[in-house]
Amino acid sequence: MRMTIVHLYPREMNLYGDRGNVLALARRAEWRGWDVSVLDVGPGDAVSWADVDVAFIGGGEDRHQAWIAEDLVSRRDGLAAALADGLPLLAVCGGFQLLGREYEAQDGRVLPGVGWFDATTRAGVHGRHVGNVIAVATLPLEPSTLVGFENHAGETALHAGQAPLARVTTGAGNNGRDGTEGAVRLHAVGTYLHGSLLPKNPHLADWLLAQAQVRRTGVSDLPPLQDDCEWAAHRERLAHPRV
Ligand code: GLN
Repeated sequence: MRMTIVHLYPREMNLYGDRGNVLALARRAEWRGWDVSVLDVGPGDAVSWADVDVAFIGGGEDRHQAWIAEDLVSRRDGLAAALADGLPLLAVCGGFQLLGREYEAQDGRVLPGVGWFDATTRAGVHGRHVGNVIAVATLPLEPSTLVGFENHAGETALHAGQAPLARVTTGAGNNGRDGTEGAVRLHAVGTYLHGSLLPKNPHLADWLLAQAQVRRTGVSDLPPLQDDCEWAAHRERLAHPRV
């Protein structure tokens, strides 16, 4: 199978090695014999969404988000149509915030969002949420745990009916108050988890790849991989969440 991964704003939005998520998706697909291309998309670059199999946007500081917010919103129609058609997408932290309704930054400026997730984010006034996160996914993942690292001032409120990606057992997640972490709508996943996330959560990487495969071929099963190292990293974080 051929697979095209769109990496949105790789220069502007790439905190804490978020690019590693794209590498993990590409490697796990290549190990299964897929022919993978990664398309880096910057402000103003055209995207043919019908040809895209997986989309990714990483995190960024407020000023990085300000550089790309208008450009991202200008892509709303094409992106939302692809997502409604089942396109899998992963959006991390600053990227997640801009997939919601809007993000009010630390300086009071309101950045518009795509509105795919029914969520609103405001920069908190009580400091940043920084540290390791362990969460239990609402997706049918085996095991159900997700591990990662968060560093954000933004506090995200999910509106009624918006499903979280997970519930935190360690860490702040969306806002440090309601226990929710991230959001999921169809096959689009938003999360605060850096890490990089997917190398340490191979089951989530494969969930995204399985959605991509189903869209192209109708087949959901993926051949298993030799990924003991990735699972060792996952278990290590579960065993030592505070380190
Ligand atoms: N600028 C956002 C915040 O601090 C996002 C940070 C990030 O992507 N890590 O909330």
